[in-house]
Amino acid sequence: MSSPKDTLQTRATRVQQSVADAAERAGRQREAVNIIAVSKTRTAAEVRQAFRCGLTQFGENYLQDALPKIRALGDIDAQWHFIGPIQSNKTRDVATSFDWVHTLDREKIARRLNDHRRGMPPLNVLLQINVDGDPNKSGIAIEDETETLGLMNRIDALPNLCLRGGMTILSKDTSPIAGFTRMREWFAGHRARPHWDTLSMGMSADFEDAIACGATHVRIGTAIFGPRKELTAS
Ligand SMILES: *Cc1c(COP(=O)(O)O)cnc(C)c1O
Repeated sequence: MSSPKDTLQTRATRVQQSVADAAERAGRQREAVNIIAVSKTRTAAEVRQAFRCGLTQFGENYLQDALPKIRALGDIDAQWHFIGPIQSNKTRDVATSFDWVHTLDREKIARRLNDHRRGMPPLNVLLQINVDGDPNKSGIAIEDETETLGLMNRIDALPNLCLRGGMTILSKDTSPIAGFTRMREWFAGHRARPHWDTLSMGMSADFEDAIACGATHVRIGTAIFGPRKELTAS
């Protein structure tokens, strides 16, 4: 069991082992599941320590919190995933500082990211999908195939973006297995698309269920870094 006194090293090792075990139970290769260490609110020193534990992919929600860290850690070979809501006046920094964006759900944002990504390798993007019908949540409603296909086609026309798959955040009252299963079916429904290889779902509380349901990327914060003091969103 975890305790607030555990070190980052202890927590990271435990999470890596749990991911390996969950992959094995699901009959999947360990390498098929990527751990994104969600480092929002953590310091650059903590991220560096996590990197030394073998974690190389990091997830950030707040640009102001993320940019100084990404700059301070320019010497390590890390991949940065933007997993927070994107404001249209912040697309330049997202496009130029991150390798992945998980929260794309609007054409306007896609265009702006594409414009700012010029001259760099394509930005990997995921469509954020709302699986549980909560109208207050971000993401395209899972049953809205017209909207989904329209946005996919428009992203395909943008040379600096590469659409790799989907991402979801479940509501607290959605059963993980039910929500992740719906997402898995959605993902499989589009498998004929080019470059379609990424399904981002599962957090500290439910990443094992997500792996059982086919997640290729799990986003884990608390279980790696310990309890978090929330920043006020900026
Ligand atoms: C904070 C956050 C996570 C990680 O949450 P934990 O419960 O700390 O693992 C994952 N995904 C998103 C989108 C988040 O905002």
